[in-house]
Amino acid sequence: MNLHVVGAGPSGLLLARSCLDLFDEVSIYEEHSTVGEPEHCTGLVSRKILELVPEAQRVVIGSYREIIVVDERLRQVAELRLEEPAVLLNRKMFEQELARYLESRGNVRLLLRERASVYLDREVPVIVTSRRSVRCSDSVVAVCEGSAQRISRQILRYQSRDYVYGLQCDAVLRKSLGDSSSIIVILSTRFSNRYFAWIIPISEREVRLGVGYSRGPGTAYLARLSRAVKVSKLRRVFGGKILLSKPPRMLGVGRLVFVGDSVSQVKPLTGGGLMLITLTTILLSRLMHILLETRDVNVLGQVYSRVWHLAYGHYVKKMHRFREVLYSDVVSRVLSMNILPISLRFSISDFDAQPRYLAGLKLPSYAHDLSHLFK
Ligand SMILES: Cc1cc2nc3c(=O)[nH]c(=O)nc-3n(C[C@H](O)[C@H](O)[C@H](O)COP(=O)(O)OP(=O)(O)OC[C@H]3O[C@@H](n4cnc5c(N)ncnc54)[C@H](O)[C@@H]3O)c2cc1C
Repeated sequence: MNLHVVGAGPSGLLLARSCLDLFDEVSIYEEHSTVGEPEHCTGLVSRKILELVPEAQRVVIGSYREIIVVDERLRQVAELRLEEPAVLLNRKMFEQELARYLESRGNVRLLLRERASVYLDREVPVIVTSRRSVRCSDSVVAVCEGSAQRISRQILRYQSRDYVYGLQCDAVLRKSLGDSSSIIVILSTRFSNRYFAWIIPISEREVRLGVGYSRGPGTAYLARLSRAVKVSKLRRVFGGKILLSKPPRMLGVGRLVFVGDSVSQVKPLTGGGLMLITLTTILLSRLMHILLETRDVNVLGQVYSRVWHLAYGHYVKKMHRFREVLYSDVVSRVLSMNILPISLRFSISDFDAQPRYLAGLKLPSYAHDLSHLFK
């Protein structure tokens, strides 16, 4: 049995990596000529990823112990201490490290400059590129096409209707930051008309600035933020779509499955997808392992949909509700009035499981959930 993966972003590469040994051949179709480009992601993720994906250890460019929440005048209103630090990954290098590892394995083909479309012919997935057409009667197909959601729209009739744009730049500041171990989150409509703006220190004077927005131009928000923090030099501007809709109930059909941004498997509170994608690919590879052994792989899509929602659906739903309150105009306005008598302090155990602690919600963390399912 073979595996065909559409898209060589983190979802496609991590999925291929976690189930390499289950398949005779793994083919990955990527429409761009270089893996990891164009870059759109900030790259912040819980340090736990270093245990789950050792390749990530080589591409860490920052580590953070706390998140400082500030208002529009950059005054601190809350401090969230991270028991498990967050790390900043060089996203392009992360994907390239994964691709290098995969290519070193004999049974993986990375097909660059091949945009694939997928359709179902009497339930059998067919992959078509400009160079080939593959009828996958004896294969599993994973669609990892990211936020483009072209194939998910066609086959699952799913599209994330709710999203914001995230625009970022790497910049050099006029003055040293002093503390480069804190992530700064700005809750203010001055810098971001929806969601929030962020400052991630990379070194003493270098930062990654970002703004989330739904009505443009984002460059105006980014320019305002650059002026507020006194930027002396801009290095590069990049960004993309942060998906805010909930994932669909069906995440696959038969032997065709969808992973990552293609079905909005994104943490609603920060737009982060890397941890949820990593855990989803581990989950999927275990399900594939079981279903290949029992020769039931034709029900993979249905089983994956049920198990994924059992593991993460509840958690993601609660986070969506929490996000709507936290990033509302009301909160931004209250903060700008400067009526909070003290700065709030919280301790949270993991960057990728904030709301559990912030909202006092009794929810299991991602990692706990998975181990529980497979005990
Ligand atoms: C501004 C911004 C900041 C973010 N910050 C963070 C963060 O700090 N932490 C975090 O965890 N997450 C973050 N995310 C989310 C994270 O980047 C995504 O969840 C993650 O990239 C999704 O990975 P993916 O592989 O599903 O999709 P992508 O990364 O989009 O990869 C999809 C790949 O598929 C290829 N492709 C698409 N269609 C086809 C096709 N038809 N044929 C062949 N190839 C195709 C694309 O070229 C691409 O290489 C951020 C996102 C944005 C936009």
